[in-house]
Amino acid sequence: MIFLKSPRELQRMRRACALTCRILRQMGEKVRPGATTREINDYALELCRQAGAKPLFLNYPGQNEDHPRFPGAICASPNHIVVHGIPNDVPLREGDILSIDFGCQFDGFCGDSAYTFPVGSITSEAQSLLDVTQEALRRGIQAAVPGNRVGDIAWAIQNYVESRGCGVVRPLVGHGIGRSMHEDPQVPNYGKPHEGDKLRVGMTLAIEPMTTQGHYDVVTLPDHWGVATKDGSLAAHFEHVVAVLSDGPEILTVEA
Ligand code: MG
Ligand code: MG
Repeated sequence: MIFLKSPRELQRMRRACALTCRILRQMGEKVRPGATTREINDYALELCRQAGAKPLFLNYPGQNEDHPRFPGAICASPNHIVVHGIPNDVPLREGDILSIDFGCQFDGFCGDSAYTFPVGSITSEAQSLLDVTQEALRRGIQAAVPGNRVGDIAWAIQNYVESRGCGVVRPLVGHGIGRSMHEDPQVPNYGKPHEGDKLRVGMTLAIEPMTTQGHYDVVTLPDHWGVATKDGSLAAHFEHVVAVLSDGPEILTVEA
């Protein structure tokens, strides 16, 4: 079910999303060679506690009852890990890239944002993947206007990413967001223009291209959570929450 947000609800969404964005930025300041993703995870937990926010990923249920709940407050996905990496004690190395995905609930509403950070100085090929993915997100957001359809966002992302020789991950998608982290509709990063749900004023969407330097096929790691590129190529992930408004898209995951 798609929930359209009233102006008052949007105001509360802005606060939750701004907080999400601030905590993600503060985590980014800790990304450096030698740091571990567990340290960054613990920092996020402390920032949530200080802000009175609930981290949304912690204890998120697995795909089925036999699978473990997600043990982290953040998804920390280095290099060839696309998403859902479990924070650990492996020190980051110069030249790594690290995707951090973070969501929190504040005053009844959810924020969700992801950013791929360079660890120290990175290769120009890695930087290019980050640039392509950020630009794809920007183009996807631009397509989030009333009257367009979900497929227009998807196509804008896919068309750009593939034009730059990168891959678009299929099995994982963006989503509506509001009082729950995952609401309808699904927002894939690949698709055809003019297809899917029509975008309406008051919709709030998490748009989140996940891209690869090589083939777009992915595999799930033995920990049941991490999703990695099958060919071992680098992956990137950027995500914003966007409100569909009459005068165009508004990015909510920005600092107030
Ligand atoms: Mg996310
Ligand atoms: Mg999301």
